[in-house]
This record gives sequence, C-alpha cells and structure tokens, in this order.
Amino acid sequence: MEQTFIMIKPDGVQRGLVGEIISRFEKKGFYLKGMKLVNVDRTFAERHYADLSAKPFFDGLVEYIISGPVVAMIWEGKNVVLTGRKIIGATNPSESAPGTIRGDFAVEIGRNIIHGSDSVESARKEIALWFPDGAENWGSSIQSWIYE
Ligand code: UDP
Ligand code: MG
Repeated sequence: MEQTFIMIKPDGVQRGLVGEIISRFEKKGFYLKGMKLVNVDRTFAERHYADLSAKPFFDGLVEYIISGPVVAMIWEGKNVVLTGRKIIGATNPSESAPGTIRGDFAVEIGRNIIHGSDSVESARKEIALWFPDGAENWGSSIQSWIYE
C-alpha cells in the first residue's frame, strides 16, 4: 500500500499538537509505520528541502525546522499521499479550510506546524532520507473494517 512522509514541525511539538495530529491520521484509517522524535541539523534540513533552495524563504525555513525537535513519521494507506495533504490543508493557513490541521491550528505560512509529501515520488525520497532502515512491517487486525 502507498506510504507518505509526515513531519510535525518544531512549533507543532512545542504547542503540544503531536497527539492531536497523530489521532487525525489514525482515526481516518491510516497506519503508522515509522515514528521518531529528532533534532535535525542544518545540513539535513537543507537536504530535506533541497527543491526549495532557490526560494527567498529557504534560509528562514531551515532555521524554523532546526529550531527544536520534530516528529518524523511514515503513514500508510490507500491514497495516503494526496489524502494526507488534504488532512493537512493548504500551505498558507489563511487559505487552509477549517477542519484541516493547518486550518484549525495555524496562522502563519512560516509556522504551519506540519509537513506532508506532495507526491508518491517525493514520499519515496523523503522516507529514504528520514528512515534509511525503512518502515516497520506490521498489519492491523481490523483492516477489513476499513478497507474492502
Ligand atoms: N514556506 C514559507 N513561505 C512561503 C512558502 C513556504 O515559509 O512563502 C514554508 C512553509 O513552512 C511550507 C514550507 O516552506 O510548509 C515548504 O513549502 P511548500 O511549498 O513545499 O509547502 P508545503 O508542501 O509544506 O505545503
Ligand atoms: Mg512541499
């Protein structure tokens, strides 16, 4: 099944939103296949956001990501990449719909509390970067109540 990389950014951790965010993905019917709380260094943060290195906000973004621990996760499920992005909401919290994580909990684009892979290909790259040993291999015993 499809996997995505989700990261709760330092502001999400500081604000005590880890449980709330995990809960939303769990209740939806996605499966947690990897998780760690980690402080990343500048080089690592720059690698994660390498595609954005030419953007004017890049340096500020890197400072933000290294400003405290983040929670890095692998989530698995049908269409989890696209659906995960919908659960997270638009990049700019002013445009994120209420009911989305950013719509409910964030105000500023530079403090938008969570990252989610934007495609299956980015998810593959991001999971490889953050979880070089891969995902945990387990299956839910109630899967058939969620997936037909
Ligand atoms: N960002 C920012 N200013 C901008 C655009 C993006 O600070 O004008 C930050 C924001 O935290 C965003 C991250 O850079 O989540 C990555 O940008 P991207 O366009 O990939 O948005 P995302 O995929 O996170 O929605
Ligand atoms: Mg992105």
